[in-house]
Amino acid sequence: MATDLRVPTHSIVGPDKDTFLDEANPFEAMMLRFDKAAELLDLEPGLYRVLRHPEKQIIVSIPVMKDNGEVEVFTGYRVLYNTSRGPAKGGIRFDMQVTLEEVTALAAWMTWKCAVVNIPFGGAKGGVACDPRSMSASELERMTRRYTAAIIQTLGPDSDVPAPDVNTNERVMAWIMDTYSMHVGHTTTAVVTGKPVEMGGSLGRREATGRGCMIVTKEALAHLGMPVEGTTVAIQGFGNVGSVAALLLHQEGCKVVAIGDRSRCIHNSKGIDIEDAIAWHARHRTLDGYPNGEIISGSDLLTLDVDVLLPAALENVITTRNAASIRARIICEGANGPTTAAADSILDEADVFVIPDILANAGGVTVSYFEWVQDRGGYFWTERLVNDRLRDIMVNSFNDVLTLARQHRVNMRTAAYMLAISRVATVHRLRGIYA
Ligand code: NAD
Repeated sequence: MATDLRVPTHSIVGPDKDTFLDEANPFEAMMLRFDKAAELLDLEPGLYRVLRHPEKQIIVSIPVMKDNGEVEVFTGYRVLYNTSRGPAKGGIRFDMQVTLEEVTALAAWMTWKCAVVNIPFGGAKGGVACDPRSMSASELERMTRRYTAAIIQTLGPDSDVPAPDVNTNERVMAWIMDTYSMHVGHTTTAVVTGKPVEMGGSLGRREATGRGCMIVTKEALAHLGMPVEGTTVAIQGFGNVGSVAALLLHQEGCKVVAIGDRSRCIHNSKGIDIEDAIAWHARHRTLDGYPNGEIISGSDLLTLDVDVLLPAALENVITTRNAASIRARIICEGANGPTTAAADSILDEADVFVIPDILANAGGVTVSYFEWVQDRGGYFWTERLVNDRLRDIMVNSFNDVLTLARQHRVNMRTAAYMLAISRVATVHRLRGIYA
């Protein structure tokens, strides 16, 4: 079994502060980076206070009639962190770990992510604390519809547009779209993204996050004067993001030497045949038993001597415990929050070029934006057009962040936060404070 590398919840002394910080706490991780960027931007105190607060936090009770006739009540959340630049955008997750604090951090993250790639959305996130694996399909459907009804005031193509996240998918999006449409009295496809293509989803959405990772990895290689051909890559996570990024990088000429999922990590110094690994995974739904490579541990995968490390599974896998052992020249953060704030400075000292999550995995929300545009226009694009426009946005965003990083002599993460915060702050200044 691959080791679960997430740091246990414990307190450490923060890198820049003498207060005790929880290295694994997503809200604190986000706020540390926000504070650093805000200070460099010399953000005025009033605006700083505004941007540190979520706009709206909704907590709802969701009574659900179970198949056995019993009633269970779940707690659901929807947080709109900031909508100054446009409708709130962010996924909905069904998971036992969902808390208001986590959802708020993720909603803030979405705000900065949408701003980094300059799409006209604010940031949101939602979730229901539940164990979807223990529920039947009809229980899940009833819970989804009741949750949608409970937060319906916030939802809408002009106000708040959910998407899939942990343990939610196209099917769940279809239920949300249907419930919303029944309430407003007409079919409204643009109320959610990540829908099935047959009902207003976008071509290329499924591959968009992994494709975005491939694009920015190539940009980073070019920036560092490294060739694409033969570049060695290790990828943690073989789901939507990891497997697509692996395939596309492989097709571009990179040598993917390690892949891993929650069951097994594989290393093959000659390069893994990714088409073959994907076909195996599609048949077995796991990498467990995949024969073409030696088995390594999850922690060894992260510290392999490769050019590019692409964490695409979990948050908090690169921490103060292992950051100094990372040997990759580039880290492309496919996952959200794979690196703790405390590990940032260790990677900086080792001159690791980190493409931060809010840039690296923004391909998904970018194509969600394309989906929303197509739904609203009622005119659908070819996959080639989707991919071309995605490439333009990812390349431009990478270069915007790189330019800022050079100007201010900061790393790519701080530059990405600076870019995002300055874009949101500019709109706040233009709009003023309504009284
Ligand atoms: P997924 O559920 O499709 O895949 C997750 C993968 O991680 C699976 O292969 C799973 O086996 C693996 N994994 C789980 N625990 C592991 C462990 N301990 N060690 C090694 N591998 C492990 O999820 P996804 O959609 O690919 O998302 C992955 C990450 O990317 C998440 O952090 C998610 O928030 C982020 N992300 C996803 C998208 C998207 O469009 N799917 C967009 C932005 C960010």
